[in-house]
Amino acid sequence: MSEQNFDIVVLGGGSGGYAAALRASELGFTVGLIEKDKVGGTCLHRGCIPTKALLHAAEVADVSRDSAKYGINATFEGVDVAGVTSYREGIVAKKYKGLVGLVKARGITTIEGAGRLISPTTVQVGEDTIVGKHVILATGSYSRSLPGLEIGGRVITSEQALELDFVPKKVVVLGGGVIGVEFASVWKSFGADVTIVEALPHLVPNEDESISKSLERAFRRRGIDFRLGVRFAGVTQNEDGVIVSLENGDTVDAELLLVAVGRGPSTANLGYEEVGITMDRGFVITNERLATNVPGVYAVGDIVPGLQLAHRGFQQGIFVAEEIAGLNPVVIADINIPKVTYCDPEVASVGLSEAKAVEQYGAESITTYDYSLAGNGKSEIIGTSGSVKVVRVNDGPVVGVHMIGARVGELIGEAQLIVNWEAYPEDIAPLIHAHPTQNESLGEAFLYLAGRPLHTL
Ligand SMILES: Cc1cc2nc3c(=O)[nH]c(=O)nc-3n(C[C@H](O)[C@H](O)[C@H](O)COP(=O)(O)OP(=O)(O)OC[C@H]3O[C@@H](n4cnc5c(N)ncnc54)[C@H](O)[C@@H]3O)c2cc1C
Repeated sequence: MSEQNFDIVVLGGGSGGYAAALRASELGFTVGLIEKDKVGGTCLHRGCIPTKALLHAAEVADVSRDSAKYGINATFEGVDVAGVTSYREGIVAKKYKGLVGLVKARGITTIEGAGRLISPTTVQVGEDTIVGKHVILATGSYSRSLPGLEIGGRVITSEQALELDFVPKKVVVLGGGVIGVEFASVWKSFGADVTIVEALPHLVPNEDESISKSLERAFRRRGIDFRLGVRFAGVTQNEDGVIVSLENGDTVDAELLLVAVGRGPSTANLGYEEVGITMDRGFVITNERLATNVPGVYAVGDIVPGLQLAHRGFQQGIFVAEEIAGLNPVVIADINIPKVTYCDPEVASVGLSEAKAVEQYGAESITTYDYSLAGNGKSEIIGTSGSVKVVRVNDGPVVGVHMIGARVGELIGEAQLIVNWEAYPEDIAPLIHAHPTQNESLGEAFLYLAGRPLHTL
């Protein structure tokens, strides 16, 4: 039994927790980082990185299948799942090694074990007590299911989907959000028949409606089946497969059912309520500066209501470390956090959708422009269609950018600067976009909105 004392104790070493620890140590604080599994958390081990490796392998499969289109003779002979797994695990292992080395090099003390908050300044890990002048809660999230829908056997979540050692012949994906459409995209590229079931009227329902509709068209062209606006009723499974029934009476049979209905906060039985922290349905409630109601205790990442994204976790971790240091960091509204969905085609957005902009400013006070990637040379070269839609306030800034097409995720960097810097199209129009790049599509859209279109009418 021992007691260790730090300036800052971080509970959970995922994107939010380790970012807080890194920034805090950089600012001269002593830091104890408690992790029960592996530093890097969901994003590195079970989320962003492994799924994007899968999506890249899926792209390679599609490119090899379509190579004749580019005059290259290649044949797609199938998916070597063991090979994909070793590629994916290799990436994760390399990044993990780098991260562990970085955490150590920054002088952060990593404490292995499951922690429980026992007072506003103390976390219990086994027999040991870890005491901090400040405590940052960063325990992350888990794959949720629906009431009565038990995970097991052929009913899986993203964790088991990543570990599959075969390509299923037929899959039902329950949930048309980010995780659902990404797995649907991978499996289709790998040769599976895929059906997505989504209760809301559109795929990626958090996106601008026009983008959701474009994705639906693209998925239809790819032969990905989807049922929208219909609720899941139940599932039965046997040795051969699953039968998924929907509330409209339809049934869909498949080899597997992937449940991708969102992620819940990992906060149960961690002592948060007992210490008096205000919670709501398992989420930790903070003010906009990420302080809980208990002085000295902060929360970051997926346990804080809002977008569950790794880069939001990083930013919040950095924010809290700087807040504790008295640096008065800038608050970034959730709406201005960039979002990318890495299916094929990719979807990327930041800021207000057209509907939200109308709600906020009134229809007469905004202008939107939808630039088709058909006019963009680089998009033509790589064989993608899609669009870049921008929303501006009249005589005011750009408040939203919404994109769909292969590789548009890489354009979000510029888009998020424009929206967060509240740039006017007139500010951007004189600046230069390299040719031929897909970034030019953003340039063209802003030229248009600034009243001086170049390659459009
Ligand atoms: C399949 C999938 C794909 C995703 N893709 C993307 C993407 O492309 N881009 C993106 O931005 N986001 C993506 N995400 C979301 C992203 O992974 C999360 O938003 C991010 O990991 C949240 O970070 P966090 O620090 O809040 O939590 P986590 O990363 O979940 O980390 C929490 C950590 O706390 C530890 N922990 C929990 N309880 C305790 C305890 N009691 N004691 C000690 N340690 C504890 C856990 O072991 C874990 O390591 C994806 C998620 C999934 C599931």
